[in-house]
Amino acid sequence: MGNKIIDIKGEEHQTECIACSIRRGEITLPVERIIETENFVVEQDIEYPIEGFWVVVSKRHIHAIDELSEKEVAELTELLIRTRKILRKFWRISRMSLIQEERSECSHFHIWFFPWHPWMLEKWKGKLNEIKEIMNYSKKNFSDSENLENIRSTIERFRKEIENLK
Ligand SMILES: [Zn+2]
Repeated sequence: MGNKIIDIKGEEHQTECIACSIRRGEITLPVERIIETENFVVEQDIEYPIEGFWVVVSKRHIHAIDELSEKEVAELTELLIRTRKILRKFWRISRMSLIQEERSECSHFHIWFFPWHPWMLEKWKGKLNEIKEIMNYSKKNFSDSENLENIRSTIERFRKEIENLK
């Protein structure tokens, strides 16, 4: 069973797996690649323009943490720590929420990094149940082209920093 999706150019595609199609460059969605390792990618979906709101995605089709191989566990741990360091260093993020959802409709294991920026903590308390509201708030208020361009150029800068941290 495939998925029908419309990409940013307005073209319609039929795909077995959206994540795999993005990675192979078959479709273009507003997703920015930050780093790629042997078994994982770190990406930002700029539909929700929050700096550092990144997702670590497995390349393999698996759902749960207990399906990871030993090698993947080591690679993932190293990647999570490296990403956390970057977020602390560049945005002074002192508080993060890491979310791992096992969803049957997404066939790639993934962990969300939700950074609690100071501007969020002025308005919200830093609780999990507030995240969806903040995502919608960001989409509504920060989706102008200037801000999206800012996020893209920041990612460009951090791509190098993340590589160097290795
Ligand atoms: Zn896939």
